[in-house]
Amino acid sequence: MKNITVLTGAGISAESGIRTFRDSDGLWENHRVEDVASPQGFAKNPVLVWDFYKARYQQSLDAEPNPAHYALTRLEEHFGDSFNLITQNVDGLHIRAGNTRVYEMHGRLAMAFCSSCRSKTATSELDFSQKIPICTTCGGNMRADIVWFGEIPYYLYEIDEILKNTDFLLILGTSGVVYPAAGFVMTAKIFGATTIAVNLEEPENRRYLDEFYPGKCGELVPQIVDKLIQNYGGR
Ligand SMILES: [Zn+2]
Repeated sequence: MKNITVLTGAGISAESGIRTFRDSDGLWENHRVEDVASPQGFAKNPVLVWDFYKARYQQSLDAEPNPAHYALTRLEEHFGDSFNLITQNVDGLHIRAGNTRVYEMHGRLAMAFCSSCRSKTATSELDFSQKIPICTTCGGNMRADIVWFGEIPYYLYEIDEILKNTDFLLILGTSGVVYPAAGFVMTAKIFGATTIAVNLEEPENRRYLDEFYPGKCGELVPQIVDKLIQNYGGR
């Protein structure tokens, strides 16, 4: 069985109506990124930061997965353990669509953790009658389980192993600008993978791509998935 790895970015979520800061010149829903997505910003104004993430969380619940998300669940059904999905998105749409082998490298809006003792709580369980939700274990401030600027993305070791062992890397909705994710294609390519990308605009790292399809993920990914299943079987 061939190993298939998918890397997704902002573009696939944008088609479900979720905007990220990269849409608009360093602003994320009208906030400066450093104010709402850095440990310094949280230390300075935790109430503002929580208002921001409550709104992002609600927005993620209101959004629906699109045909590209559902196509990727078919890919997992067919390829099982040979399939892995790495996402830079924090909205949880892949999991809601039904994928289980998901590495959310930048964290998830659906979880929070204590900034003192690190214990985790589902965002849905937090007490938002307080302006800043408090850890029920130690009384510290809870924060969104999001990898902020200056913090290290999750699963980098696992992701490196996956990329070195994959036969295909399918890159969806990323501009190929933001590291470390922008470098994943290089790793996969050096270790022999075929690399395919779908994005509205040509990604910065085009030279490492074997195939590039300009357009919408929701339109192109279902066809690419059909082809992969047809050519490489799965179960
Ligand atoms: Zn705590």
